[in-house]
Amino acid sequence: MAAPRQPELLLTKEEIGREVNRLAQEISRDYRGKHPLLLGILKGSFVFMADLIRLLEIPVAVDFVSLSSYGSARVTSGEVKVVQGLRSPVKGRDILVIEDIVDTGLTVGYFLDYLKKRKPSSLKLCALFDKPSRRKIPIPIDYRGFTIPNRFVVGYGLDYNERFRHLPDLYVMED
Ligand code: 5GP
Repeated sequence: MAAPRQPELLLTKEEIGREVNRLAQEISRDYRGKHPLLLGILKGSFVFMADLIRLLEIPVAVDFVSLSSYGSARVTSGEVKVVQGLRSPVKGRDILVIEDIVDTGLTVGYFLDYLKKRKPSSLKLCALFDKPSRRKIPIPIDYRGFTIPNRFVVGYGLDYNERFRHLPDLYVMED
């Protein structure tokens, strides 16, 4: 297999920062007077989560889960398992799931079902990047950042074989 070419810039850190701020304003407004639990899906969401919570104007609790989907680096197979499960109680709490990117929707769809069974008082989803053209199941995204084309992106927490997560901007990987 040939080595991938250099990534090509899609969104700058300034553009991402403005969008994260807009999402934080919306979340702060909607959850005023509440104390939601923000649940990040590792690993990709950790950069987004770190930036988002510092722009919120409400108190939040934070936890992370690690889900693995079987498949290659670029294609989700559809089978998902919780690798590192939830430590925080979900029942009766306002839960906001923080996802980096929704592609087929299988990963987050699985996790939303898993959470629903644990009877939260509310359950919403915030995703910074949305690739709707590849969706396999309908996913209600309550707080959506950028809608992006069907390209494989890296940077801002997103990797390709554990590379490029540290990049502050978002890039498209060429095939
Ligand atoms: P889905 O289950 O929605 O197909 O895929 C969700 C997961 O696949 C994301 O949480 C992310 O880890 C990974 N993923 C999907 N699309 C991309 C992409 O364009 N770039 C990267 N780096 N990961 C992606």
